[in-house]
Amino acid sequence: MSAPKAVKNERPHSEEIFRRALDVLVGGVNSPVRAFRAVGGDPIIVDRASGARLWDADGNEYIDFVCSWGALILGHAHPIVVEAIAAQARRGTSYGMPTELEVELATRIRTALPSCEKVRFVSSGTEATMSTLRLARAATGRDLLIKFEGCYHGHSDSFLSEAGSGLATLGIAACPGVPQPLAALTLNAPYNDAAAVEKLFDQHRDKIAAVIVEPVAANMGVVPPAAGFLQSLRDSTTRHGALLIFDEVITGFRVCYGGAQTVFGITPDLTTLGKIIGGGLPVAAYGGRRDLMDRVAPLGPVYQAGTLSGNPLAMSAGIATLDLLAAPGFYESLDARAKRLGDGITTALRETGVPATAARVGSLLTLFFSAEPVRNYADAKKCETRRFAAFFRAMLERGIFLAPSQFEALFVSAAHSDADIERTIAACRESLVSASELS
Ligand code: PMP
Repeated sequence: MSAPKAVKNERPHSEEIFRRALDVLVGGVNSPVRAFRAVGGDPIIVDRASGARLWDADGNEYIDFVCSWGALILGHAHPIVVEAIAAQARRGTSYGMPTELEVELATRIRTALPSCEKVRFVSSGTEATMSTLRLARAATGRDLLIKFEGCYHGHSDSFLSEAGSGLATLGIAACPGVPQPLAALTLNAPYNDAAAVEKLFDQHRDKIAAVIVEPVAANMGVVPPAAGFLQSLRDSTTRHGALLIFDEVITGFRVCYGGAQTVFGITPDLTTLGKIIGGGLPVAAYGGRRDLMDRVAPLGPVYQAGTLSGNPLAMSAGIATLDLLAAPGFYESLDARAKRLGDGITTALRETGVPATAARVGSLLTLFFSAEPVRNYADAKKCETRRFAAFFRAMLERGIFLAPSQFEALFVSAAHSDADIERTIAACRESLVSASELS
């Protein structure tokens, strides 16, 4: 495959489109982190994408490591996924009634993640996490929630304190508009700090409904769980009669077919999924123990619904995607490519002497501009975000598109070739030098 041509940041058409966008859309975007606020400059205006490549409205070509924020583990416009969507579109795009497709996708999910004895499809990760919290409160008769600083669980009110992702990028610790009595029901603990969780359980005896966690944190950059951390959450929640919710919106079908719960051998009570299970279309899901899920309407009184839930286009894309992921050796090959990238970046760091660290779990990777390893949000916040911004821009000029924030992951997909990885490492070495030249 030919190397992408150098991008000289000549993007007159994109700039013109973005000017119009600023007039009619809030900040010119429909999700804050897309606005490039943390890295400077205007966002890429995408024209089209294929495999590991994106083209902007001016025809500039990029190797894409955002991959729709992890949804596109097969890369863009995989022909089998596209054909599944097209074939379904010809049969109708939405019925608002049950289909066999929903049963097929739910069955694949349960096979991959046996803890999801029953599944409910929704249209976004936000809906999935919000619904599990409601269900956990209903099932336990308790109101408090423990989450972790720097984890992101969507934008519903209860999850917006000390959250990662766009809130970390924009420095929003508490979101205006969330009523204080509701915010007070969310307790935060540092990621990887089991003792802090146990202390919260002691302080709020019999009042905590659930602990929600990203089993591999990926919204403050990639932070792996410390040895024993997830098991200790399983033990404390069981001991204190609270539920354990694994938010696998990123890790599900990413770190292996069965998600992080399979990798770490922990069975949560409830799980949220999104991104990959929709093959790039808007779908997410929650699932878990049958006795809990049976409390959801219409079987029980915990109400949750959606006009487009289980949308047939999205179900078709999800089924086609999961069937490709189930091929023998898929994850071994993906992870080997990501390891080559991680190792290449680590070597480049050593050669250039830049004080930064590459954190990688499977095909999730973050280059933290900090000399110290990052174990939690407090560590992540110590990163030199100004250097990250310079690095990001230098990479973009070399045709490599990374997430425009220090507090996000880079996603390797099956469409990234060995040549893409080599080119990215070479660009990284040059860009590290530019970033280190900042005073
Ligand atoms: N949970 C996690 C772990 C996520 O990473 C995200 C989004 N990146 C969400 C929930 C929310 O998903 P959505 O953006 O689809 O609402």
